[in-house]
Amino acid sequence: MVLIRKLLVIIAIQTSLFFTQECLILADDTWQLDDNSAEMSDADEIALGKKVDEYIRHQFYLRNDPELNKVLNDITQRLTSVSERKTLPFTCDIIQSHSINAFSAPGGHIYVTEGLLKFAETEDEVAGIIGHEVAHASLRHVSKLYREFMEILSQRDKGADSAATLSLFNCHLEEFEQEADTTGVLYAHKAGFNPNGLSDFLERHLNQLIQEGVFGLLRFGSFTTISSRINHMREYTRSLTIKE
Ligand SMILES: [Zn+2]
Repeated sequence: MVLIRKLLVIIAIQTSLFFTQECLILADDTWQLDDNSAEMSDADEIALGKKVDEYIRHQFYLRNDPELNKVLNDITQRLTSVSERKTLPFTCDIIQSHSINAFSAPGGHIYVTEGLLKFAETEDEVAGIIGHEVAHASLRHVSKLYREFMEILSQRDKGADSAATLSLFNCHLEEFEQEADTTGVLYAHKAGFNPNGLSDFLERHLNQLIQEGVFGLLRFGSFTTISSRINHMREYTRSLTIKE
């Protein structure tokens, strides 16, 4: 059970907007998975998601605000109705935390922090964030990550350099983020939200971090990653509106 929890937490953290580095730290732990690498069925993913959700509810305080929960779940339903995985029982919960973050767990569980909701200025920005998380689920990133882990483990067993395998894994994380960014923008657009919501949110957040002097030399990589994500999304949004 402990091993399953670690895997699930890694998956949950990987999909967050800003904390891909934490994932690597957790990934560099001891792992023993004995399952095969076949793609996860919906039923398996939902069962796995239930376990992660239990773990998250154990680790964090969730805010129970019926009115706000309804707003978030309505936004989520609008986005999932235009996604490729309408069969997943998507939900969006609020974590009591001042940090600005969002993440998803397998099976359609999405979590946003109070800090994020406070920072968001419009419904479109919130929709942009939720759309990104819905996209991770639609694109089956959980199953793909699971296979990545299996691959990393088998490479390690063969004596491969663990730094090299983890760096390969990190490349895939970036790829998943980009995929979720553009797919999320598309969902927001199709669902009738302003497709620039996520870019606007990230841009303001990035500016705030710059003002706070968060980006020193060590964090410069994070700065360029977020900037290039914003540029990529803006370009994609332009291509969407040109097509119309
Ligand atoms: Zn993500």
